[in-house]
Amino acid sequence: MSLEEARAAVLRDLADPTYDELVDRCVEQRRWWVEQWANGEPFLVCLVAQDVQEAVHATDPTWPLCAEHGDHPLFVEPDLGTDPFWVCERSGLPFAPVGSLRQLGP
Ligand SMILES: [Zn+2]
Repeated sequence: MSLEEARAAVLRDLADPTYDELVDRCVEQRRWWVEQWANGEPFLVCLVAQDVQEAVHATDPTWPLCAEHGDHPLFVEPDLGTDPFWVCERSGLPFAPVGSLRQLGP
C-alpha cells in the first residue's frame, strides 16, 4: 500500500475537506519515515490513520465517533499492522477497516 493509497483511505474516512491540509502534513511526515524504512510501506495506512486521528483530536476529540455508543472515538488496531481496523475500545469490536468507515457506517 503506497503513501498515496494511505492518504486516500484516510481522506475517505474523514470525508471533511476542513482536514485536507492536516492529512497532507501527516502524509509528508510519513514520506520521510518510509524513505528511511522502505519495509514500513505495508504499515502506512495504519500509521497515517493514527497520525491523522491524533492531529484531528486537537479540534475534534471524538473523531471518528463510535456509532454504537455515541460518546467516544474509535481507535486504530493494531498499532502497527497491515490490515488496520477502526475498533470500539469499550466493546473491543472492530467497526470497519480503515478507509471503509463511511461505507459501513450509519
Ligand atoms: Zn463504542
